[in-house]
Amino acid sequence: MKQKTPQLLNSTATILPPLMIAPTQVLRGENILLQTGEAITRLGKRPLIVGGNHTLNLVEPRLKPLFDQHNLCISTANYSPDCSENSRKFLKNLVKEHQADLIIGVGGGKALDMSKLLAAQCQLPVVTIPTSAATCAAWSALSNVYSDQGAFLYDVPLSRCPDLLILDYDLIKTAPQRTLIAGIGDALAKWYEASVSSGNSSATLIISAVQQARILRDILLQKSEKALSTPGGEEWREVVDATVLVAGVIGGLGGANCRTVAAHAVHNGLTHLPAAHDALHGEKVAYGILVQLRLEEMVQGNQLAVSARQQLLKFYDQIGLPKSLEDLGLKNITLSELRHAAEVACNPKSDIHRLPFTVIPDELMAAMVSTTVLRESRREQDVKSLD
Ligand SMILES: [Zn+2]
Repeated sequence: MKQKTPQLLNSTATILPPLMIAPTQVLRGENILLQTGEAITRLGKRPLIVGGNHTLNLVEPRLKPLFDQHNLCISTANYSPDCSENSRKFLKNLVKEHQADLIIGVGGGKALDMSKLLAAQCQLPVVTIPTSAATCAAWSALSNVYSDQGAFLYDVPLSRCPDLLILDYDLIKTAPQRTLIAGIGDALAKWYEASVSSGNSSATLIISAVQQARILRDILLQKSEKALSTPGGEEWREVVDATVLVAGVIGGLGGANCRTVAAHAVHNGLTHLPAAHDALHGEKVAYGILVQLRLEEMVQGNQLAVSARQQLLKFYDQIGLPKSLEDLGLKNITLSELRHAAEVACNPKSDIHRLPFTVIPDELMAAMVSTTVLRESRREQDVKSLD
């Protein structure tokens, strides 16, 4: 999202970019889906429900009584092959055919991103129903667009957050544990990226967003292990709130100045390797945080980055986030594939250039293959002790 320069109307008035902090309404609870009929009908009577096949099969029986009770005329649509331009065009036709007056997105990040984008382009309200806690897509006013093959292309800032977000913990509980682990990785990145991209800003909203990101990191470091060992328990719910809701608040509050940096740029580069498609968004981002810290160590000699990376390596071990290319299932990629991912991550428009130093693909490749290396200082000591 590019923040526009304040526009001078006359000598006394300036217009700042609108704030898109949160969805208009957030309904959450155990089995809350069936209680949301009135809130949905207030937004429309002819919803088009967008999701993946698996999700639609899972959620449709849960939603059917609600649709029947409120006389909603629904149609469902799969967003395959991906959250791409072709899918958007195909879905736009279905919106016309069904004369839809509301979009309901159900699923993970891509299904929700597609639904928000479709709703924005058709000027319709949108409801997001996340089926996992893997990202904050249910909250944010942003959609990522991919190729039909799943390679990240660009993101589209939207003019507002969703009209209604329904967070049903019972539904989230049906998702594989791995999705919550990935969500923790994606949410952790908020601190490591926002603290860099905000620069030395003293703006109230930006400082507030960055501090929220720090608190979010601390909550995740403290509660994730317990949350994962007791799915559905109190800590589990706290961590779900952290990954789906709080992570969204930070992007909303901080806007263009709390955006992604190298961790997501590395993710974006990796999506261009077919071999990386089995790894979830948050898994690639989590690995990307280690790459970003490694760059700060290598290029700047940043000692804080050294200890942050060591801390995260321990945490990743505890909860099962990938620490290396091998952990992401990429141990057999070729040098040219690695270079391709690094070049995509370093393209001139990439957020990696929000780092306070220049990064070239060669340096990025070096960081990508050394995320688990021991601390630099110890290696130097080792060399000295050999002298
Ligand atoms: Zn993300």
